[in-house]
Amino acid sequence: AKEAGRDQLIVFDQSLREKRLEVAQTVERLGRALTQGELLVHFQPLIRLADERITGVEALIRWQPPGERMVPPDRFIGVAEDSGLIVGIGEWILRESCRVVAGWHGRHGTVVSVNVSPRQLREPDFGAMVLDALRDSGLPPPALILEITEGVLVDQGAVTEQAIGHLSMLRSHGIKVAVDDFGTGYSSLAYLRDLPIDHIKIDRSFMPAPGDTDPAARTLVKAIVDLAAGLRLGTIAEGVETAEQVALLRELGCERAQGYFYSRPVPEPDAARLILESASS
Ligand code: C2E
Ligand code: CA
Ligand code: CA
Ligand code: CA
Repeated sequence: AKEAGRDQLIVFDQSLREKRLEVAQTVERLGRALTQGELLVHFQPLIRLADERITGVEALIRWQPPGERMVPPDRFIGVAEDSGLIVGIGEWILRESCRVVAGWHGRHGTVVSVNVSPRQLREPDFGAMVLDALRDSGLPPPALILEITEGVLVDQGAVTEQAIGHLSMLRSHGIKVAVDDFGTGYSSLAYLRDLPIDHIKIDRSFMPAPGDTDPAARTLVKAIVDLAAGLRLGTIAEGVETAEQVALLRELGCERAQGYFYSRPVPEPDAARLILESASS
């Protein structure tokens, strides 16, 4: 048994080394990806449920290495955070998103929601960088929503002063803040009252599955929508895939929805066409 244990340890050690090598290679390739134009942004429409018009888009990063399959963000965002590359990548996606959406905003009032990682909010000049990106693009501050996760605001029960400082400053300029994946973290709800936020995005795990008649699913969504309304926060439901889910969200008074039912994340020209169609219908 002892022998077997040692063998297992060796195997484990090797796979750990392989894993490290793989991570190092990803970091190197990702660093190049940024400078060589392999990163792109796709846009997923945010729909206002009252009239089913597109009022905004979420910017979602894509990595397309030449001659290879697209790498999904779940495969590289973690590595980008651990290595610090997310600081440069995050700035790039913010500037690119503001540039693209400034045109749509001018014509149709479209807003853009951009994901911000916890690592970016630890940069002392994050707030100044965001203001500069807005100025360069001409996008007005109220047309930008920054998506953060609750862990950014509250870490093990303590509020994170630096992140809150950046977000409060940016909100004083009119920028909006949304809590992403709402309901999946474990922090207390008190932060919803005290911290600098404008919207909550209801995580897709709360959407009742097709054919799910269990009233518990509905009860949870209703509780979140009512809580947000009581605190005067906007609500955006994520991962909406079916007409039943849309009907439920509308009935419960959720403001906006986002999901495959309306559109997958799409490249800029397709998003432009969807926005134009939505505005003229
Ligand atoms: P997220 O911010 O929660 O983004 C929503 C994810 O759900 C996206 O996955 C989107 O394509 C997917 N989605 C949208 N509608 C539906 C639906 O109806 N059903 C299902 N099953 N999925 C849906 P994506 O684009 O693969 O991004 C995954 C995660 O990667 C994002 O989750 C976000 O955490 C991260 N991410 C993406 N872009 C960025 C970025 O620019 N910066 C940072 N820091 N993180 C990013
Ligand atoms: Ca998001
Ligand atoms: Ca989300
Ligand atoms: Ca998510």
